[in-house]
Amino acid sequence: MIYAEKNGEKVLPKKGETANCPLCSQKVIARCGLVNVWHWAHEKEECDSWYEPITKWHLDWQSNFSENQREVVIKDKFFQSGKKHIADILLPNDVVIEFQNSTISAGEILEREGFYRKMIWVVNVEKASHNISLSHNKLKIDNCSLYKWLWLRRCWRVAKMPIFLDFGDDFLLYVKELKNDYHVEYKYFPNSYYYWRAEYNMLAVPVSKNTFLAKYANVTQCPKNAPHAAQPSQA
Ligand SMILES: [Zn+2]
Repeated sequence: MIYAEKNGEKVLPKKGETANCPLCSQKVIARCGLVNVWHWAHEKEECDSWYEPITKWHLDWQSNFSENQREVVIKDKFFQSGKKHIADILLPNDVVIEFQNSTISAGEILEREGFYRKMIWVVNVEKASHNISLSHNKLKIDNCSLYKWLWLRRCWRVAKMPIFLDFGDDFLLYVKELKNDYHVEYKYFPNSYYYWRAEYNMLAVPVSKNTFLAKYANVTQCPKNAPHAAQPSQA
């Protein structure tokens, strides 16, 4: 996490400092190295079971939202279970935005959607961008085009909440539907098993990042390399 608590304030990590975790109130230590994004870490294990290491990609997204909307502790107000999690962004209309960089299981997708109720996924697919392409079929349904997703991360098929795929450029792909039909190819490799590649169909529509942010963050600019206070200066 980028924010911890100190004297009731949200604080960014600073070399040699400690603060408290906003979720469990335990001590957290500022990790200000040269490789990873500067962050706060617990002495032992991270307390949020949905913890994901923060990356520059997260920071760039977060920087488009006001500080009080970033890393907000959400309590389970529906079942009063006492569970708490840190949402990446909480919008004033109670919608959570989760920026997902690492792999996630279908179970956790469902769990998070059930917990937050109203949420949007932004998924980093930059490394998989070569696997996602517009279909040659010019089919359009409700202004959505048909796309092919080779090696679709199938966990996303369970998601009920809106998914925006981030390719690392100026456009997101808003996924309207991950379809059940897919194309499978079989190949044979010498001394090896059959190998298959599966290409899934998806109905989606490109949305510019600026449009996304104008809608959700009330800002019109999405700087590619957003500056943030907690990064070491490049030596
Ligand atoms: Zn904690």
